[in-house]
Amino acid sequence: MNTITVQVPDHMTESEFREQLERLSSQDWLANWWSIADVKGERPDLTDEQARDVLINIERWHDSEVGINWQSIREIANMTYDVPEPCYYCGGNCEHDKENACDGYLGDIDEIYTAEHE
Ligand SMILES: [Zn+2]
Repeated sequence: MNTITVQVPDHMTESEFREQLERLSSQDWLANWWSIADVKGERPDLTDEQARDVLINIERWHDSEVGINWQSIREIANMTYDVPEPCYYCGGNCEHDKENACDGYLGDIDEIYTAEHE
């Protein structure tokens, strides 16, 4: 067996970290991984920090009879952070995803969004 040196992350105690490492290397445990990227796939309006909050709530609130799935991720994300108002022009998420915003939002021909921010 080889020995390595690792640093304990600031958000964990040494015993929590040791327990996680033992589970990771054990053949007696199974882990199914979900990430903030999965949360943001369902809710692209969320920041990384908000997606981390959602992961914490998924761990706490998911139904163990069902497990963690796309529906539970979406529902718990929506319970944690309100769903943004849909784009007035296309019904999408333009206000919170400007890289993929529709031409209606970007041009704001009806001045809906420019009026809101005055
Ligand atoms: Zn739009």
